Amino acid sequence: MKAIRVLSPNIIKIEEDPTPRVEKDDEVLIKVKAAGICGSDVSIYRGTSPVATYPRVIGHEFAGEVVETGAAVARVKVGDHVSVNPVCNCGVCKVCLIGRGNVCANLKVLGVHTDGGFREYVTVPEKNVFPVSPDMPWQLASCIEPYTVAAQVVSRGGVAAGDTVLICGSGQIALTILQVCHILGAKCIMTDIIEDRLVRAKEFGAAHVLNSKNEDTVAFVKSLTDGLGCDVAIDAACVGVSLKEAALSVRPAGTVVTMGFHDSQAQITEFTITSRELDIRGTRLNNNKFPQVIQWFEEGKLDPTRIITHHFKFTDIEAALDQLKNDPENTMKIILDF
Ligand SMILES: [Zn+2]
Ligand SMILES: [Zn+2]
Repeated sequence: MKAIRVLSPNIIKIEEDPTPRVEKDDEVLIKVKAAGICGSDVSIYRGTSPVATYPRVIGHEFAGEVVETGAAVARVKVGDHVSVNPVCNCGVCKVCLIGRGNVCANLKVLGVHTDGGFREYVTVPEKNVFPVSPDMPWQLASCIEPYTVAAQVVSRGGVAAGDTVLICGSGQIALTILQVCHILGAKCIMTDIIEDRLVRAKEFGAAHVLNSKNEDTVAFVKSLTDGLGCDVAIDAACVGVSLKEAALSVRPAGTVVTMGFHDSQAQITEFTITSRELDIRGTRLNNNKFPQVIQWFEEGKLDPTRIITHHFKFTDIEAALDQLKNDPENTMKIILDF
């Protein structure tokens, strides 16, 4: 079978690997049908990921068909269509035991710490596969994972009906967060420094948009909330200054959610946090969000086709990465077809 492997930063090859077989009783062998390219795949390729190791078969957003199951597998059977949760946790550390396995002390993420889904066949533990309707197109099934990330962000923020949510940044991930906020009945204010992205955010239903390069985000948010500030602020721009804007835009007792992996400094004073009892919360991957997101997909509450802009045959991975590099503003989710 063919596998897309990043050998070292900036060197990607399609290699011929032996087709895996089920080796453990709880394993499932999946024939991969579609996979999405994520910003973190690109950062592993470019050598900027702080967590990846090499060589690595990348890809953590994928779906496929079950072709073999271990003796103890009961939840899925051969022929089922499944989406795969890339979060692999130990289940026994203190973090897992308090129900926070997405930040397990021994966390392994498929496509990051261990080989992922950009290959024709992959084995994964049964607990990581989630059946989807056989009517769901493969390209949509492969988008479930990025929406679990958005669902996690929104759940960490405690977003509720009637809330006003500031989303700093209007890129593709921010738009998925917007879509999830809408399901929950919250309205969103979105910022960016690129005008085209703000136009798109409006098309996706953002209540208000602001170019934060030209205007003051904090003053704008306060003007829309009777001077109080928004209920939840999500930093999806992740550029340091955006975290400061988020913290200053949120109301007293509000929640700020951080998503970035960079190490630039955000100039937030302790006073900002203490005086208003802010909750500043990180969010990572997803914690048991697959069933909820699959239900939203199947009920038609989420429309992932709106973020899919390109398709490539998986063997054209280099062309797909070039597309992302050369035309980032017109490229949201790229699906690799297997
Ligand atoms: Zn991703
Ligand atoms: Zn653990």
